[in-house]
Amino acid sequence: DAPSTAFKRVVLKLSGESFCREREGGISMSEVTAISRQIKAVAETGVQLAIVVGGGNILRGKQFSQVSAAIHASTAHYMGMLATVINALALQDALENEGVSTRVQSAIRMEGVAEPFIRRRCIRHLEKGRVVILAAGTGSPFVTTDTAAALRAREIGADVLMKATKVDGVYSEDPAKNPHAVRYSTITFQDTLKQNLQVMDATAIHHCMEHNIPILVFDFGRDGNILRAIQGERIGTIVHN
Ligand code: UDP
Repeated sequence: DAPSTAFKRVVLKLSGESFCREREGGISMSEVTAISRQIKAVAETGVQLAIVVGGGNILRGKQFSQVSAAIHASTAHYMGMLATVINALALQDALENEGVSTRVQSAIRMEGVAEPFIRRRCIRHLEKGRVVILAAGTGSPFVTTDTAAALRAREIGADVLMKATKVDGVYSEDPAKNPHAVRYSTITFQDTLKQNLQVMDATAIHHCMEHNIPILVFDFGRDGNILRAIQGERIGTIVHN
């Protein structure tokens, strides 16, 4: 029997950093394969899983727009969105290679490599047990894939937005700077705002707060953690109203 899960439908936000080695850029297929194996275990539980992929391992619009006056800020952001498509395709093949059935849906039309994002079609794939990889963020510049993940979570009616990071939750202060920083197991949206804690970008936070979508921040680096999180084990930090 498939192990039970705490959630029925989940949006998982995978940053670009999960596609490369620590302090490197680009794509490392060994990292992508490792994360795919974790995702396979999740898919086998029967939970409906949509994954919003970031692109920071390749390009971030805000940074790239500052390298030269020749590039318009929106162009840099479109390049960032295309970077997420590159990651999405790598993740798709890695997952399919593990025997997981997937679809990629892109917010920027890209016939030949991905379906367009169509809400009802996305939900249909999820109901059929396919992992849906959501690429190209929102399709609009000047926001991040955190915001895309929050919007998609609301659109498809996800129970939770899971933010996979390299830190095992939300801390009172930056644990890299202060070793005495404490990790919260739960915290309210209001408190993260009051204390100016970095959970996701502000737009994403406000959206989740307004629409009552809890965010689970957890460390994907420990093998099996994505499954633990989905099964409701108390890892990471839950941010809620
Ligand atoms: N981006 C965008 N609109 C979106 C989502 C992403 O313009 O809806 C661009 C933005 O420039 C961002 C880049 O795509 O910097 C890559 O995404 P992100 O920085 O969120 O990736 P992550 O930090 O998760 O790796």
